[in-house]
Amino acid sequence: MDEIILTCFHCGNKTSMKRVASHELTDHDEIFDYSFSSYRPAYVVSLYKRWNVYICPVCKEITVERVTSFSEEIGPEGEPIYNKKLIYPMNSNDTNYIPDTVNDAFVAALKVRHLDGAVCIMALRRTLEKMCKDKEAKGKDLFDKLKNCQRRN
Ligand SMILES: [Zn+2]
Repeated sequence: MDEIILTCFHCGNKTSMKRVASHELTDHDEIFDYSFSSYRPAYVVSLYKRWNVYICPVCKEITVERVTSFSEEIGPEGEPIYNKKLIYPMNSNDTNYIPDTVNDAFVAALKVRHLDGAVCIMALRRTLEKMCKDKEAKGKDLFDKLKNCQRRN
C-alpha cells in the first residue's frame, strides 16, 4: 500500500504514513437537453470520491484524506484533475463568514490542541476575545462580553 509524508495533527510529527484503508465511489448525473430529447440524457457527468486512511506510526492515530475529481474538470491531455484535502483531524477552518482575525486565532488553537492543553485553552480564549471585539461587545471581562454578544443575537 501507499506511503506518503504527512504532518500528523494528533501528535504534531511530520512523518511517513502508511495507507491502511481506502474507499471510493462515483456518482453519475444525467444532464438532459429537452430541446433535443426528453428520453435520453444529452450527456452524463460524474463526480468521483475516494477516502484514504493513513496511520501515524508515532501516535497510532488516523488521518483521512479525501480525493475528488469531476468529469467536467480535466487537464490539457484529457486527464482527470484530482483535488486532495485532509478532512480528519480538522486542521483548518474553511469559512468566509468568520472574520480573519478570529479565524487565525482559532486555527492557532487547533494546531496545538493535541500538544499542549493549557496553551490551546489560552488560544481559544484569545479567539473568543477577538470574536467579542469584532462584535463590539461591551463588558468588563470576557464573561460579560460573551453575555453581551448573546443578548444582541
Ligand atoms: Zn501522530
